[in-house]
Amino acid sequence: MTTETASRVPTQSHQELSALESAAVELEGRPPSAFRTLWEPACRLRQRATELGAEELVQRAMLLQAGVLLREGRTGEGGQHAHQVRVWAEEHEHLNLLARAHRELSVFYRHVGDFSDALTHAVQSVSFLTDDVPPSLRARHLMTLSVSLDDSGSHEDGRRRAQEALTFAAEAGDHEVMSSILNNMAYTAVEVDDEPEARMLVGQMRDLQARTGFRFTANELDTMAQVELMGGRYDAVEELLSPVLAELVAATEGDAVAECQLTLAQARRLAGRYDAAQEALDATRAVCGTRGLAGIGARVRQEQAALFADTGRYAEAYEEHRAFHAEVTALQSVQRDARARALQAVFEANEARRASEHFREMAHRDALTGLYNRRYVNERVPALLLESAAHRRPVSLAIVDLDHFKRVNDTLSHATGDTVLQHVAELLEEAAPGSAFAARMGGEEFLLVYPGVDAEEAATRCERLRLRIRAHSWEPITGTLPVTTSIGITTAPEGRSTFTALLSAADRNLYAAKRSGRDRIIAA
Ligand code: GH3
Ligand code: MG
Ligand code: MG
Repeated sequence: MTTETASRVPTQSHQELSALESAAVELEGRPPSAFRTLWEPACRLRQRATELGAEELVQRAMLLQAGVLLREGRTGEGGQHAHQVRVWAEEHEHLNLLARAHRELSVFYRHVGDFSDALTHAVQSVSFLTDDVPPSLRARHLMTLSVSLDDSGSHEDGRRRAQEALTFAAEAGDHEVMSSILNNMAYTAVEVDDEPEARMLVGQMRDLQARTGFRFTANELDTMAQVELMGGRYDAVEELLSPVLAELVAATEGDAVAECQLTLAQARRLAGRYDAAQEALDATRAVCGTRGLAGIGARVRQEQAALFADTGRYAEAYEEHRAFHAEVTALQSVQRDARARALQAVFEANEARRASEHFREMAHRDALTGLYNRRYVNERVPALLLESAAHRRPVSLAIVDLDHFKRVNDTLSHATGDTVLQHVAELLEEAAPGSAFAARMGGEEFLLVYPGVDAEEAATRCERLRLRIRAHSWEPITGTLPVTTSIGITTAPEGRSTFTALLSAADRNLYAAKRSGRDRIIAA
């Protein structure tokens, strides 16, 4: 009896261990959208593995838990789990587990808004992967890396990684991951205002859907609608989003449905259908109220302010904008507290404070040049315009684009191109003293914003900048290749315009400057 028991226990536990191992593999392989199904089995796995003293399985279960926690918004706990697994994996030199822990840490840092640490972990999450991991896992890690690169403003690198991810996802036949990679890429293209690229990617999403028959998520439909919005095809926006509003798409995506309604409101406003826009906006407000979506609620106010402004109701626009600003400030302090708690859950207090401060700056800065980024501009300029309109103050805007910049990259190197961009950024910074500011909009295109500066003064300043850039000592960097810029300027004399209208006016002038020979400024 005793001998029999003694010999059976190890065999039984051996069998149970291999069953647990298979369970872990199955859980790890579930599609990202099924994350809600993971919590219970991961808890059971962790419990049983702990009882059996199977340390590696305990860590793998914890990492599964980390993934669920992070995706459910329990950021601090998720980060803590991932951090512990990372420490264990480092000690035991378990490379694939280490790679996966770094990926969850990247997600953690992204949630707390620290894009530079998110990038560091994403890089490690790819570099620790061993050659034998399945292609679908490699695809997910590359996708995380590409998102992090985009967040930190390195769009070209981000795009390259996304392409690689796509190749691996295709190899694995993982349509869900393929679709979300394409969706991310299209969304980035919208953010950097690259319409041809965005349209091409949406085409690929449609092809994939036609081949495999999966259903677009509300998220994906919203991206596609944003692409139509870019091209001013407002009917197409309507067509894409009406099924979402008719609630044909899974209602689990609360935020995404509200996002869609907001996009629709914007499209209708831009199409000049102001009553219909107001209707969509009222509907968005209702959804935000019932679902407690504070972040989108604030953006409803922002869109309402724009709608008032477009219909000439400037005083109301200004009031609405102030309310928007107050909500954002309140939200930010709530987010700051949550972020501080999340970081503190993972680190010592000092380190957490440093990381949190570091974040605030990073989120608004371009990684290469240190100038403000497009995200900042998109938040700041509409607000500035409403404020200026309320006080009837002028605002001038200038788009600065390097001439024949491709030549620098092609005949010298991409790294030389980067150095040129950094020098130009410094000169732009000098040209934007006081309340003026400079931003990198993407690639070799910059924006100067001059609050309180009229058309004449803006032209004087830009002309001075143009001469300053061409006279800079480029020789040590580019040899005989000159560096010059073309600048398109526009002014809203009493601040009464929209950011979109000003940007396209400045862009038209820039185009005219390019066409008439480059190295010049053109104001309206
Ligand atoms: P144009 O005078 O008409 O503006 O000509 P261009 O060559 O400057 O314009 P184009 O838009 O055709 O090319 C811009 C180039 O800028 C292409 C791209 O490789 C390069 N570029 C974009 N982002 C970066 C970057 O971050 N670093 C470097 N080095 N090059 C970049
Ligand atoms: Mg150029
Ligand atoms: Mg350009």
